[in-house]
Amino acid sequence: MKVIILGSGTSQGIPVIGCNCETCVSKNPKDKRLRTSAYIETGNKKILIDTSIDFRQQMLKNNLSDIDTVLYTHHHVDHINGMDDLRMITQKYDKVIDLYGNKLTMDEMKISFRYVFTEELVKYKSVPLVKFNNLENKEFFIDKIKIIPVECLHGDLKIFGYRVGDFAYLTDVSFISEEEMKKLSGLKVLVLNALRIRPHPTHFNLQQAIEVAKKLKPNKTFFTHLTHDILHEKINATLPKGIELAYDGLEFKL
Ligand SMILES: [Zn+2]
Ligand SMILES: [Zn+2]
Ligand SMILES: [Zn+2]
Repeated sequence: MKVIILGSGTSQGIPVIGCNCETCVSKNPKDKRLRTSAYIETGNKKILIDTSIDFRQQMLKNNLSDIDTVLYTHHHVDHINGMDDLRMITQKYDKVIDLYGNKLTMDEMKISFRYVFTEELVKYKSVPLVKFNNLENKEFFIDKIKIIPVECLHGDLKIFGYRVGDFAYLTDVSFISEEEMKKLSGLKVLVLNALRIRPHPTHFNLQQAIEVAKKLKPNKTFFTHLTHDILHEKINATLPKGIELAYDGLEFKL
């Protein structure tokens, strides 16, 4: 299984428009962050987690041209607004792409992208041809690949993280129950959100994310969905062993 971090930035992206802070003016490519998303290749399937606002750029930057399935964490615009660009893939390969998420995520997306149901546009394939699939909080299969949703809280909102084999991906999380934590034991790699240094009402900050990683003890943890409070080189050097900051283009195999 191959994983690529397509974007490691919070909703504004880094640099932030009009900001001159140390991170936003940094020359380190690891401080340039597109919006949060990841790509998984396993068993001949190309699985995307979220269609970030930067989806098009992310596909081009990473030389990717095909997606079979999208797993959605939740419906916030930084995680869904690149969906229209699936059109180039559904046209090129003449196929329908399956989208998965909890019922609220799918319902909200059907409102945000209601034009994809326009009969004439579907007929001429000038909209992304997608199928919305509601997920319950229980494991399901894409071909032979087992996907385990992990229900977490993002403030008051119920969202999904996903476990695929020994890899788990959780973003925009502020609380994980003991019951759901059990689904995350024995991981090789965990990707988890760590927004910034100060606390935040709807996202783990750096300290809270470190505590979760220490509890779960994966071989390796990468933090994502980072704001400009996080200067890569400075903060990465302070993290406990086995924990690192993710960055755009980070690739690993499991
Ligand atoms: Zn987000
Ligand atoms: Zn800044
Ligand atoms: Zn969110």
